Amino acid sequence: MDRTPAGSSPETPGPETPVQQSLFDWADAVPAAPPGGGFRDSPEAKRMLDVREVYAEPAALASPRGRQILARLPGVPVTEVAGHWRIPSLHGNDGNVARWARVKTETLVLGVKQTLTTRPNGRSADWIAPGASNGCAMACAYCYVPRRKGYANPITLFTNIEAIVAHVGRHVRAQGPKREPNQCDAQAWVYDIGENGDCSVDALVSDNTADLVAAFRRLPTAKASFATKFVNPDLLALDPQGRTRVRFSVMPGADSRLLDIRTSPVADRIAAAADFLDAGYEVHFNLSPVVLRPGWQRDWAELLGHMDDVLPARVKEQAAAEIIMLTHNQQLHEVNLGWHPRAEDLLWQPAAQETKRSENGAVNVRYAREVKRDALLRLRELIEVHAPWLRVRYAF
Ligand code: SF4
Repeated sequence: MDRTPAGSSPETPGPETPVQQSLFDWADAVPAAPPGGGFRDSPEAKRMLDVREVYAEPAALASPRGRQILARLPGVPVTEVAGHWRIPSLHGNDGNVARWARVKTETLVLGVKQTLTTRPNGRSADWIAPGASNGCAMACAYCYVPRRKGYANPITLFTNIEAIVAHVGRHVRAQGPKREPNQCDAQAWVYDIGENGDCSVDALVSDNTADLVAAFRRLPTAKASFATKFVNPDLLALDPQGRTRVRFSVMPGADSRLLDIRTSPVADRIAAAADFLDAGYEVHFNLSPVVLRPGWQRDWAELLGHMDDVLPARVKEQAAAEIIMLTHNQQLHEVNLGWHPRAEDLLWQPAAQETKRSENGAVNVRYAREVKRDALLRLRELIEVHAPWLRVRYAF
């Protein structure tokens, strides 16, 4: 597999060059956990997350989860902060833009999630649960999570996981059984547990993901759901018993190498699907984001053909997909220009995009209505031809 570093050019020194690192050295299988420890202790895991500084709220430090996380990080200096949100030396430091990916690798924030609310969604999931993290060690150039985070977006882990789990349990029980099937699921209320981060990477350093998977095992009317771009074999041991849906995000390799910085290669995410199904997960796919550029139809056809070739029948029988067209944001565009300008050539296309000012004043862009409509129609046709077994749950 070509793992050419994205954005590398010997002629253009400047901001730290983003690199699509090779996280794994396996061809088509989930790597085995090293003897005596989980994957989280492996060199591959360290390449993703090698924490060298922690910012933490005092309450997070005092909590059982906070203490457990720090016990796994011996010798790592801790800076106490009043709040996990907008730490001036982190989020407010424009010098961090040039270190965008490094900060994600080496910095961890521990906080307490103050407001626990479950929001209705109705598209990907019935509900958005209060996430157990915010921020990510991966560095997808289109990621919406940093839009209000300023100049850095490392993982913030919320240590009051017992409160989060209890809140979700109460919410599930208050719904009663799901009476009508919908696009989210035929029987279960679906709760997205990873709206603002990646649960697979969080699991490298905390048991928050394991606790949520275990909680949904005990909630027969509900199902957890999270999208991921990282293959973490430790999740195979969590015994979800069908109550957690993992959605592997996929896009053509050429786009992924440029845009999905620090993620597992797309082929490896696809190759992991059967292992996750056999371990008790429901396995869906996010076709996202769909980025329009010359050759996009050819490359999506190739990707869908690849999925058709390599996925076993048992994965196909239960698979479904979400299609999410690219949206972007002016503030993030400007931050990205400081660390990964080549990605912006693809993501920022004013001629094909329209702008929309959100309630908080941010300027978001998305493909113009007709451009998006035509592209979605074409992608559905490609699915029909190359992966007819792939039911589209929703397209957005
Ligand atoms: S994996 Fe998800 S949360 Fe992480 S950077 Fe990519 S889009 Fe953002």
